[in-house]
Amino acid sequence: MNKAPDQDPMIGRTLGGRFQIRGRLGSGSMGAVYRATQSAVGREVAIKILRNDRTIDDQSKARFLREARTNSLLTSPHTVTVFDFGESEDGELYLAMELLDGESLGQRLARVRRLPYTEAVDFARQALRSLAEAHAKGIIHRDLKPDNLFFARVQGGNENEELVKVLDFGIAKMLREEDRQMNAVETQAGTVFGTPRYMSPEQAQGKTLDARSDLYSLGVILYHMLAGRPPFTDDDAILVMARHIKTPPEPPSQVCPEARIPVELEKIVLRVLSKDIEQRPASADALIQELTRALENSGPVSSGVRSIPAPSRRDDLSGPLPDVRDRAFPIWGYAVGALALLTILVGGVAIALSNRTTPTTAVPSATVSAKQLPQNDTTIPPVEVLTPDSLPTASAVPATSASAKPIKATSSGGGAAPATTKPTGKPVPTAGGYEVLN
Ligand code: ADP
Ligand code: MG
Repeated sequence: MNKAPDQDPMIGRTLGGRFQIRGRLGSGSMGAVYRATQSAVGREVAIKILRNDRTIDDQSKARFLREARTNSLLTSPHTVTVFDFGESEDGELYLAMELLDGESLGQRLARVRRLPYTEAVDFARQALRSLAEAHAKGIIHRDLKPDNLFFARVQGGNENEELVKVLDFGIAKMLREEDRQMNAVETQAGTVFGTPRYMSPEQAQGKTLDARSDLYSLGVILYHMLAGRPPFTDDDAILVMARHIKTPPEPPSQVCPEARIPVELEKIVLRVLSKDIEQRPASADALIQELTRALENSGPVSSGVRSIPAPSRRDDLSGPLPDVRDRAFPIWGYAVGALALLTILVGGVAIALSNRTTPTTAVPSATVSAKQLPQNDTTIPPVEVLTPDSLPTASAVPATSASAKPIKATSSGGGAAPATTKPTGKPVPTAGGYEVLN
């Protein structure tokens, strides 16, 4: 898919009459990032050009401009500076931002697997300073993941001096198609954004988010930095989302005893990863303070003694993790993904995945995997919800297995379905906390 830089038609173009595109820095789920020169001031910048694979209507453009304007209010040295934004002559939406030199946390973790806890905490605190300002201004990031955190070399500093920068504030929201009519599937399922491995439970359920959703995602990143892997590593995106909702994470000291994680630090990490929003620290500032205190008192370290055997734990963590599409899903993929998740949690809801004209086919258990999700804006198949009598009781997601086995709904299981997904036999109501995009 990626064109070689010399074939990329963007290179050599002048965008918005101001930015001369020099070369390609990389590409991601949201679009491509280029190195450019802002002619008037001779400044080197990075330009993100948002992917234009679906019709961007006037309302989407207005939303993008609104979000970009809000984001350009962020002034923390730990937030990448957005200099400019707009629409090119060809209708592409772009953001011009400070050009960073360094590597993303994702790249670093791929190189070194994990960080000493002092560095991990220092890194997390810098990212939290960025979040503290954004949250105070009413902006939620929504897509925190290692690829969106950057170790930027400090200009004029010594070789090893780095500053953590948070990238892509609110980008997911910019691309949200909130202004168009919903179809039945989306209305029932909600539509979720984010990255399954780093996604908060409420985000996995398509609920309305607040700042504490970002704190959870940062907690997952901190866990990953400490333990060498995120808490849930199944290679099925829907299963990972279900685990964020249901499965308590294994303490990082048990995953990685050699990291010698202080007890107090581990407690904080596990509390940030609470499924219950109220149990998490109240704000980014509160979390910074807790982390600072934990470092100051970092006497005893967690023993790493296993309380429960975890046969499926990866002992060799240096290899690549399974691809759970750490990039954001296509919107339709999420609509169906969220629906499949409901299926997992309620247990036994039938999905017809054939086509609109085919009579509904009952699927006995939720085995819809990420790989089966549509990759593009194809027609969403109809959904049939069974009557209460035919619904088996939900079983909880197994707590310890890290395998990619599909979750089976059992007819005798006693696990609880979440309050928002009562098996009423009717389509799941949108009032159950699902953010409906219309
Ligand atoms: P997306 O968020 O769309 O998935 P990324 O943020 O991962 O895309 O950006 C794609 C590439 O561009 C990555 O390699 C990233 O490190 C690089 N990049 C993004 N922003 C900047 C920037 N401001 N300066 C330098 N490189 C950047
Ligand atoms: Mg990004």
